[in-house]
Amino acid sequence: MSGPQIRLGEILIPQDLIHRRVRQIGSQITADYCGKCPLFLCILQGAAVFSADLLRQVELELSIDFMAVSSYGTATETSGQVQLMKDVDSSVEGRHLILVEDIVDTGLTLGYLLRNLQSRFPASLRVCALLSKPSRRRIGVPIDYLGFEIPDTFVVGYGLDYQQRFRNLPHISSLIFNQAP
Ligand code: 5GP
Repeated sequence: MSGPQIRLGEILIPQDLIHRRVRQIGSQITADYCGKCPLFLCILQGAAVFSADLLRQVELELSIDFMAVSSYGTATETSGQVQLMKDVDSSVEGRHLILVEDIVDTGLTLGYLLRNLQSRFPASLRVCALLSKPSRRRIGVPIDYLGFEIPDTFVVGYGLDYQQRFRNLPHISSLIFNQAP
């Protein structure tokens, strides 16, 4: 069965704007966590590119770990059922956690991750997300550091994919579906 016809749409967030914002967030985290050693939890795979750039803008002693979840039922709509595919390797108890997400859409994935991590008694837990689509939210979730708010459109690039494609685009672009996905 062939998938939907797709093409890249307009560039929503150009590379230089992303880099400027990532530098600002890095400085903010550096100031907020002065004297602490936060543990950054990169949510694979979408947040890998953002995390790699962000961490290099944080001037602190820090550690990194990775988690992976799967939630997508169809191509662009969440199933609402979030499953943990990869857990952290390190203990999060007593640590200052910064969860790094690519995009918060309905909020269901982030809600699941926050409940999961809170139950393990971290010293603190904050969220850093590159993108947010507030108009799509189904549950309220906190975002402490946010790159950009975007409208209700499917985006790719800078780590975000469509069926594993486009992660290496240096900017954020919309994706146009010529027929329903
Ligand atoms: P949520 O649980 O908030 O609905 O979805 C979060 C996850 O859905 C994100 O981590 C991301 O993997 C995926 N997602 C949501 N919106 C988009 C989008 O516009 N583009 C891409 N590539 N992924 C998205």
